[in-house]
Amino acid sequence: MMKLSDLGEFGLISQIEKAFGKKSPGAPLGIGDDAAALFVSPGKTLLATTDMLLEGVHFDLSYTDFYSLGWKSAAVNLSDIAAMGGIPRFSLTALGIPEGISVEQVNEFYKGFKALIRKYKVDLVGGDTCSSEVDLVVSVTVLGEVEEKKMLTRAGAKPGDRIFVTGTLGDSAAGLELLLAKGKGLRAKGKDVNSAFRIPHSALIKRHLRPVPRIEIGRKLALSGCATSMIDVSDGLSSDLAHICEQSGVGADIYAEKIPLSKEIKAAAKQLKTIPLHYALSGGEDYELLFTVTPSKLKKFRSLRIPSREIGVITRGEIDIIHEGGERRRLEPTGYNHFRK
Ligand code: ADP
Ligand code: MG
Repeated sequence: MMKLSDLGEFGLISQIEKAFGKKSPGAPLGIGDDAAALFVSPGKTLLATTDMLLEGVHFDLSYTDFYSLGWKSAAVNLSDIAAMGGIPRFSLTALGIPEGISVEQVNEFYKGFKALIRKYKVDLVGGDTCSSEVDLVVSVTVLGEVEEKKMLTRAGAKPGDRIFVTGTLGDSAAGLELLLAKGKGLRAKGKDVNSAFRIPHSALIKRHLRPVPRIEIGRKLALSGCATSMIDVSDGLSSDLAHICEQSGVGADIYAEKIPLSKEIKAAAKQLKTIPLHYALSGGEDYELLFTVTPSKLKKFRSLRIPSREIGVITRGEIDIIHEGGERRRLEPTGYNHFRK
């Protein structure tokens, strides 16, 4: 194991620079100058997003490996670009690294980060590297671009629009609970938690540790002109739907039995003694896309075969969930909310 103190800040930065290889035409200076110089496509709108991942708040190093942490810190930002219908182009990584973290662990972080950004041809163009007195701090910024007229926002949903969601919901939150339960069990037996999580992970745990941003779908939707609003599901369906409704000035009816649930979550819910719907509504970190489609474009939308499920309709009223059998209840935003505990 190599200590960061042996390498120093600039040694580490030049290692990162080397790991990410040659400069791209879009960022000809690459990493290493005072600021990155970036070429954006003419006529496109620049998208910018930042997400922090804090040890103890967003992750716990006893069950997150560094590769997954790097992957996820890229994924959560790319997901925000996907939710605007954009193309991600550039990324910056700012790290606060506490004592005890090795050079190898930082390299693993960047391997995971690179695996994901390379897939979408995103360049790493800069960042910042500091020592931290307390915990590990990760802050990632991603820049992307989109045609102004094609951009999808949280505003724009109209009464009568149908509500769709990609993939399945709740898997990540259920995966986290499985991780926590597994860790607790191991600690109770006096076993090493870290080693126990060296793969193979179940599908649910994988969805928590290595989420996949829906870049291609977001892009296809934006270009199709069928969608009226979009958001990525990062806080849980109930909260993210509320964001769309608030910013669009509308309400919604959601049909509980239409919410897509994986077979894995149905099995795990029995084990965790809870219902899968709870994770789907309040869980968060699924990074699926939630969007609305105007009725006149439904036929065209269906012909695109975008993998998604219709779960409800936009209304002029409140945000309600209709359970099997027809019972209607108000859908409160119960997803994750910092400062509210
Ligand atoms: P300055 O003091 O001018 O802010 P730094 O010494 O912090 O410059 O950084 C030098 C160069 O290395 C900059 O181009 C910066 O963007 C890049 N950089 C620093 N840390 C990282 C990192 N963790 N990942 C990627 N690039 C980094
Ligand atoms: Mg700096």
